[in-house]
Amino acid sequence: MTDIAADILNTIRKVIDHAGSFTALHIPVFEGNEKRYLAECVDSNFVSSIGEFVDRFEGMLAAFTGVKKAVLCVNGTAALHICLKMSGVERDDEVLMPALTFIATANAVSYCGAVPHFIDIEERTLGTDPRKLEEYLDEIAELRDGACYNKLTGRRMRAILPMHTFGHPVDMDPLMEIGRNYNLAVIEDAAESLGSYYKGMHTGGFGKLGILSFNGNKIITTGGGGAILTNDEDMAGLIKHVTTTAKVPHPWEFYHDMLGYNYRMPALNAALGCAQMEKLPEFIAKKRLLAERYAAAFADLDGVRFFTEPAFAKSNYWLNTLILDRDYAEQRDEVLKVTNSNGIMTRPAWTLMEYLPMYKDCPRMNLDIAEDLVRRIINIPSSANLITDKL
Ligand SMILES: *Cc1c(COP(=O)(O)O)cnc(C)c1O
Repeated sequence: MTDIAADILNTIRKVIDHAGSFTALHIPVFEGNEKRYLAECVDSNFVSSIGEFVDRFEGMLAAFTGVKKAVLCVNGTAALHICLKMSGVERDDEVLMPALTFIATANAVSYCGAVPHFIDIEERTLGTDPRKLEEYLDEIAELRDGACYNKLTGRRMRAILPMHTFGHPVDMDPLMEIGRNYNLAVIEDAAESLGSYYKGMHTGGFGKLGILSFNGNKIITTGGGGAILTNDEDMAGLIKHVTTTAKVPHPWEFYHDMLGYNYRMPALNAALGCAQMEKLPEFIAKKRLLAERYAAAFADLDGVRFFTEPAFAKSNYWLNTLILDRDYAEQRDEVLKVTNSNGIMTRPAWTLMEYLPMYKDCPRMNLDIAEDLVRRIINIPSSANLITDKL
């Protein structure tokens, strides 16, 4: 066995010109028009949910991702909640989702009174394994009058919620087919994958609805924020309505025609978003270059592999990922300790959802691959500003 912790620390240092100071996992970069647009927004007095910046940011997102409409939300979790509601997810329904994800994916299901149902991942994408899911559904799912039921729990299964882990696209084609065959809505959690493409198409636009997040650690940030992507313009109108308290437009009457939510993104945040969107192509280019350098540096190191995009994908490499060989899985905490104590921030993957107290009794398939991978994943510094080359 080699001293894998020291080897990993030194290899990261070689790539990112570590100057002895602290290197975070992912920090925002504000080197464009952020301050200018914020000042413009303040001067306009339209700092809340209407105003030019909201429309402009939505337009930029739709154009960039190639969907018909983007609707801004206060954060990605709220965006997910609305997508589930709009897909007809009701109390006691089940929603299929990967066991390996950020808590928001499962929480949004719970906010609907529905039950997350955990699915295994594949090593190639670190996301939902469509083949394993299909075999599983063949076994446990039953279609009655076109509705999909879980034979084991008796509950209706309403949707599949794939998540593009660390920015790497899930294998969407077979997942979309499963959605069609089992009458399950496909909602993409593309929170991490702005700038990632599956077979040339931007993630988040495959299913009926998809979401993005602009939290401080994401590839672009608005402080906090999210968006819903859709190709259904009527749906986009309805989502705008529901996320703005379902108030029927009128000069003075307050009339709300359904249960609505105050999930709008303020214009102040959208102003930041417009400036960040102008920089997005540069961020992606820099992050892909950083990933290329990591891949080259880690190529010759025994005991660990740098995760690279599957052949069908072009990834934004939001969070760069190392996967320890099984023989070195026990060394993971040592690697985390040595890197973090030497100023290089690293992090393990999230705790699998079924190990959290509120989700321990949820239905799940065999999760062998997720169980195996989660012990071996280490995220390493990934900020766009780690590349200082002029591109
Ligand atoms: C960031 C993130 C979200 C949304 O998070 P917010 O902080 O609410 O914007 C949802 N799912 C995943 C997988 C995420 O990483």
